[in-house]
Amino acid sequence: MNRDTLTLEQRRQQRLLQVALLLSLAVLLQGLLRHALQGRQEALALDLGGLLLLLPVAWLLQRRRLLAASLAFLLGMAAFVALLAMVLDRPSAAVPRFSHLYLLPLMLLGYQLLRDRPALLRRGSMLLLVALYVLLAMLPAFDLPAPPSVPAQRLAGLLNGLIVIALLIGLAQLGDTGWIEQTELEIALARAIANGRLTLALQPQCDAAGRVLGAEALVRWQDAERGWVSPAEFVPLAEARGLILPLGEQVLAQALALLQRWRDDAQLGQLPLAVNLSALQLQDDAHLERLLERVAAQGLPRGRLKFELTESVMVAEPERMRLLLERCRAQGIATALDDFGTGYASLATLSQLPFEQLKIDQHFVRQLPGNPRAQKVARSLVELGERLGLDVIAEGVETAEHVALLRGMGVAQFQGYHFARPLPPAEFEAWCREHAA
Ligand code: C2E
Ligand code: MG
Ligand code: MG
Repeated sequence: MNRDTLTLEQRRQQRLLQVALLLSLAVLLQGLLRHALQGRQEALALDLGGLLLLLPVAWLLQRRRLLAASLAFLLGMAAFVALLAMVLDRPSAAVPRFSHLYLLPLMLLGYQLLRDRPALLRRGSMLLLVALYVLLAMLPAFDLPAPPSVPAQRLAGLLNGLIVIALLIGLAQLGDTGWIEQTELEIALARAIANGRLTLALQPQCDAAGRVLGAEALVRWQDAERGWVSPAEFVPLAEARGLILPLGEQVLAQALALLQRWRDDAQLGQLPLAVNLSALQLQDDAHLERLLERVAAQGLPRGRLKFELTESVMVAEPERMRLLLERCRAQGIATALDDFGTGYASLATLSQLPFEQLKIDQHFVRQLPGNPRAQKVARSLVELGERLGLDVIAEGVETAEHVALLRGMGVAQFQGYHFARPLPPAEFEAWCREHAA
């Protein structure tokens, strides 16, 4: 199953199972260590068995067989708790058995995992767990050797405490790094995509005199609770969670709608509009096919739409990318190499890739003032582009000094705050009227 075919609910289940798996792994590993220290063979065997039970769950999860993974986890862990109760947890007159209580969080998890599954399955699993719970509360323990001596117990207890603390710190760290909260942002983003709430901002690309030559479409997301979320935050999230494909399709659809709207406009009808494609989009053939078909169906004049691609994919799969770029060219779609200079594409690779434009990354532009070394590097990037017969544009151009330095190197196209910020489409259109080429 492909990553992008998971629904929001399935993605939630996947996340839940991942967390459950991780926690179980940590708990079993610390049990293993503790019992090894205590030299309790029967407990060791039990922990090992538990760990083995997690393997098929991880395997199923990896293959995105969520129902099978959920059931394997629930049944496996129920069996583990049952054995734990029977082997290790001896009820006495003073202390009753308690390990069957572990079944309670398992029931809660099971309820969450099977929330949108058939009622029979959900109720059946819950009933099974409840029956097991009652049974374990009543049955006596197996007759096994006595527990270890008191000093070994104390040491094991200390170790256990330390491991639990480490586990808690680890979990808190996960929370801090956003591993857990991101699910919320992810759900909000998935909803925004599904409800078509993403918009485009258009940033003009200009000549040195500030006359408009084209534009880059940049995706924007205004969330009801969070306000504007930066694409630097949500684009990587979309990439990590398989949302970048639907996002990319929506961005392209909106860009195409704009191009159609401008089609008969004497000025706007001439401007190329660039759309960013992320590496993951380029790796998915079916997705690319859908994009190209969608563009073909528009019947736009040549060069009106441009794709911006980054270096990383070019390095990984130069031959596939060459074929793609040729197809784009045949279909009248222009192509630009975005963030040029930040990747590691070799000259040999670059010279074989039929791009039309190089975009000098803003990182270089920012370093130019008062930095002769940076100027030399930028100059060689520009020369390289020219030798290969490519258009060269600089991005992140923020000051008149940037423009002057870049012009001195032969750059004739610019994009950056010095000229204009990314604008909502209506403002962009008005801006273009005032800055006609
Ligand atoms: P990018 O493609 O390199 O886009 C240029 C980024 O630089 C944009 O940030 C733009 O607003 C910003 N920028 C433009 N001029 C200046 C300037 O003078 N100074 C500074 N400091 N920044 C400037 P934004 O909109 O935040 O986008 C960030 C990145 O997110 C983009 O970098 C691109 O990699 C990605 N992205 C944006 N929209 C899309 C999209 O529709 N699809 C995909 N796959 N990625 C997108
Ligand atoms: Mg770009
Ligand atoms: Mg860029």
